[in-house]
Amino acid sequence: MSAVSEAEVLEALKRVVDPDLGGNVVSLGLISGLVVKQGNVGFAIEVDPKEGPRKEPLRKACEKAVEALPGVLSVTAVLTAHRPAPAGERPRQAPPQGQPASAQRPEIPGIRAIIAVASGKGGVGKSTTAVNLALGLAVRGLRVGMLDADIYGPSLPRMLGIAGKPVSKDGKRMEPMRNWGIVAMSMGFLVPEDTPMIWRGPMVMSALEQMLREVNWGELDVLVVDMPPGTGDAQLTMAQRVPLTGAVIVSTPQDIALLDARKGLNMFRKVDVPVFGIVENMSYFSCPNCGHRADIFSHGGAKRTAEELGCDFLGEIPLHMDIRETSDGGEPIVVSRPGSEQAKAYLRLAEMVAERIERALGEQAGRAPRIVIQ
Ligand code: ADP
Repeated sequence: MSAVSEAEVLEALKRVVDPDLGGNVVSLGLISGLVVKQGNVGFAIEVDPKEGPRKEPLRKACEKAVEALPGVLSVTAVLTAHRPAPAGERPRQAPPQGQPASAQRPEIPGIRAIIAVASGKGGVGKSTTAVNLALGLAVRGLRVGMLDADIYGPSLPRMLGIAGKPVSKDGKRMEPMRNWGIVAMSMGFLVPEDTPMIWRGPMVMSALEQMLREVNWGELDVLVVDMPPGTGDAQLTMAQRVPLTGAVIVSTPQDIALLDARKGLNMFRKVDVPVFGIVENMSYFSCPNCGHRADIFSHGGAKRTAEELGCDFLGEIPLHMDIRETSDGGEPIVVSRPGSEQAKAYLRLAEMVAERIERALGEQAGRAPRIVIQ
């Protein structure tokens, strides 16, 4: 069976009519972000923010039309608003059919909040941002842990400058590793760096579940999860199974146009995880000699995209030699050069993320059932 093409998907979607607008979804321009990869199809349907949940039948009709095509293995259609929603608003989509999203994500005792740092693709500086954000949160007095969920290319041991293997005190749970005032766990501590790892889907999830739940994290205010790059099935499963309080998406100015950040955003929205916002990394070039600033990648794309997508813009991190040297050398800039402009950019990011964590926890508490004692 040959794989389905984008043109075939669009052709099928042309048969779906929006009864409110009186036209097919393709010619009305409602379809965006179409991705077709080996039979797996994903796209967004743009709707008026006020209409959100009422458009669920339209979303289902689109999914059904595409599912019927030969060669289609899975279809993921999400509703997105074409006008920016107020900052910090919760996603409009219902959790995936069946159980509420939270039912699949048991909480982890002792950990107040878990946030994901994600990117649409590799090499955008996701891990560097995650590490400096985590240390920035620790500088603010929070008790912070980091979980390196990128099991194919774990970089946390190197970036945090930690060597050695974790031990278990009780024979059941591993003790996390520790440096710069935070605790961390990574597959890189368990398997030597040059050992090739071949993981199949279910193994990935069970390794991650173990690193999440069978580690003695202690009492943490926030666990920062450095997600594997991309927005494929492994990432989606993680976003679904880890009890995430929110997500931060890292993007470079060049990738913004390539929809990568949008894919990340839609992935979290689909599983009902609030997206705290987008950070623009390598936003502008900051010359290490004279401090001169050059916008080599026409910076500012992330800000515009965030506005378009109705999520917050969490600031810009310059492209600077010191960031690369310190993160690759195991002495992240937030702790090794805290007074530098670059460290300050991460500290501002940490401040914004800390605020959003509190807001999200407050909202969650507001939604939880209350026990009334009479
Ligand atoms: P990812 O996790 O997205 O694959 P990394 O965080 O590993 O990306 O970063 C890739 C490379 O880019 C690393 O060598 C890192 O030091 C460097 N890097 C990341 N962000 C910056 C930045 N703002 N300025 C300079 N170098 C950076």
